[in-house]
Amino acid sequence: MAASGPDGARVEYEALRGRVLFGCGARAAVPEEVERLGVRRVVLIDGLLDGAPARELEDALGARRVATIGDVRQHVPAALVAQARETATATGADGLATIGGGSAVGLAKAIARATGLPILAVPTTYAGSEMTPIWGITSDGAKTTGRDLAVLPKTVVYDPELTVSLPVPVTAASGMNAVAHCVGAMWTASANPVTDAVAAEGISSLAAGLRGCVRDPGDLGARTEALRGAWLGGAALAVGGTALHHKICHVLGGAFDLPHAEVHAVVLPWVVAHARERGVADAALRRVARALGAEDAVEGLRALTRDLGLAASLADLGLDEAGADRAAELVAEAAPSAPVPVTREQARAILAHALRGE
Ligand code: NAD
Repeated sequence: MAASGPDGARVEYEALRGRVLFGCGARAAVPEEVERLGVRRVVLIDGLLDGAPARELEDALGARRVATIGDVRQHVPAALVAQARETATATGADGLATIGGGSAVGLAKAIARATGLPILAVPTTYAGSEMTPIWGITSDGAKTTGRDLAVLPKTVVYDPELTVSLPVPVTAASGMNAVAHCVGAMWTASANPVTDAVAAEGISSLAAGLRGCVRDPGDLGARTEALRGAWLGGAALAVGGTALHHKICHVLGGAFDLPHAEVHAVVLPWVVAHARERGVADAALRRVARALGAEDAVEGLRALTRDLGLAASLADLGLDEAGADRAAELVAEAAPSAPVPVTREQARAILAHALRGE
């Protein structure tokens, strides 16, 4: 088999440590898993709008739960992190548990980064953050991200039953966020045969599962398939890392407060089209197309976003021409390298397409 570094170069791969439970009803094991981590005083971070699943978890944790934090927002504002840290310190917490999507996990990671507290995550969206050592914090309109093994959740409990209530628009958008993790992981310098296989399987699972969830949000089989894909997407991102696509999304989220997952869904086909035009990452694009059951990666991704009923343009999400100009500058300054470095003009051209959705 050919080495699968982006240019067939030498591969370095380091597996990440973590324990995963997956299955309908798996949430019942959370107290046992907390015990297994040796945690006695848990702060629960609740990122759900509907309180019922979090109350169920609070009851199950009983006296081990010392506080619940319910103020959770996308892109992890620094002010919320400061408050949450204070709660963790004041309650003498020795561990964190999350129930919710990437925003809940993101807040837990920010606390863990400062305190070293272990995290147990119960994800309820398809964002995949629970599988990664990547943290992000936003202050003064800029999102800073980094990698730190201390923030990688020690235990992840995936229970598809918790995702049935996820509204269709969030299902579709956070699912495309996971597809973007898979695609992005295939063309970074850290790409390797393991993440290639994980990412391709993730794309297939997500494409089938998400279409099923949108047709019938209560279809537990489709929910299970989509969550399986999300797990794989997070695992691919965790090792493969991010580059141009994510940088564009982080700039748009951090500087313009656009919704993270929806932005991913709009931007991804345009970044893939840019790679295709520049003639780079051919092998990755073929793998993406194959995983989608399409002739071409761009067409396959467009068909998927259409089927999922997602916004087609950044203008629909609130960006304007001046914002796209500024975003192009910020992306070029950040100088992402994969699948290929971009100039400010090239970043602006990608954003021009994504802005108008044409
Ligand atoms: P989210 O966590 O903000 O959740 C979106 C909305 O869905 C919220 O209103 C939430 O209350 C609701 N929700 C979640 N689960 C639900 C359920 N089962 N039923 C009903 N409602 C539910 O969104 P997200 O897309 O999961 O996460 C986005 C954030 O995660 C962003 O800040 C992004 O940067 C971050 N992220 C980080 C990584 C990483 O590796 N660090 C990876 C992906 C995303």
